[in-house]
Amino acid sequence: MENDFRVLLYYHYTTIEDPEQFAQDHLAFCKQNDLKGRILVANEGINGTVSGLKKDTDQYKLAMESDPLFEGIVFKEDVESGHVFKKMHVRPRAELVTLRLNEEDIDPRQLTGKYLSPVEWKEAMQQEDTVVIDARNDYEYDVGHFRGAVRPDIKTFRDLPEWIRDNKEQFENKKILTYCTGGIRCEKFSGWLKQEGFEDVSQLHGGIVSYGKDQEVQGDLWDGQCYVFDERLTVPINHVNPSIVGKDYFDGTPCERYVNCANPECNKQILASEENEHKYVRGCTPECRVHPRNLYIKEQQLSPEQHQERLEVIGENLPVRS
Ligand SMILES: [Zn+2]
Repeated sequence: MENDFRVLLYYHYTTIEDPEQFAQDHLAFCKQNDLKGRILVANEGINGTVSGLKKDTDQYKLAMESDPLFEGIVFKEDVESGHVFKKMHVRPRAELVTLRLNEEDIDPRQLTGKYLSPVEWKEAMQQEDTVVIDARNDYEYDVGHFRGAVRPDIKTFRDLPEWIRDNKEQFENKKILTYCTGGIRCEKFSGWLKQEGFEDVSQLHGGIVSYGKDQEVQGDLWDGQCYVFDERLTVPINHVNPSIVGKDYFDGTPCERYVNCANPECNKQILASEENEHKYVRGCTPECRVHPRNLYIKEQQLSPEQHQERLEVIGENLPVRS
């Protein structure tokens, strides 16, 4: 079939001796197979997501699975009708997930939380004395999360260890469950929790994506959508009783539509209806709405007068550059 595309999501902790060289060779290999996507390579392994025709992603999987370096690698797979990336990047990095643990760094092959299957996870999260920690960024949590999960008040994943230390009393003597999109962030984070002295730490094996695909749980107890790092932005998880938890940035009504702030220097990702995007000229603050390089104004070719009128409706009168 012509439109028979697949999206692969995968990671594997292994030892890659020369990440720079590996990245270069791997990029050439991916391009040969007409794949698009984003792959990170580090001394500690690989973390990637790519899209391509089924025949090409099959070829890729086969090559990876038969390489002893990636023995046991697991691919999560979605069916799509086209690519979900514009380009193909393979980048060497110091670490696969940005926790910046430095000398406290964790090798998940040595130390990590207990792996729970989707069925075990669903049962565990409903037990008493259990706390579920979302190990993702705040904007990912906001469009969907496990029911009752803790949303750490952090801007990026690397701030998570410090936040846990500052809020330790919430987690002491509790069974800790942690989850992320595909599982890679929790491999490290759950290991770090154990190193910190928390004894009962478990992680959702295969992440949210696998939980949504599991035939038995079918994403039950997941509220909203799951944020993904490709052009789809979100994917459905709960096939039992789906709901919307995302809220429009401007008026708080249910919303799952992501846009980036039109101020290129801000670029903040927000949820907004089409109507509010027009009303607020896609700016997240009054300053972003009058930024001289506001992309919305440019795309819509609004004159300074039209721009001014738009802002008057929402009661703003910061100067618009003519
Ligand atoms: Zn902004």
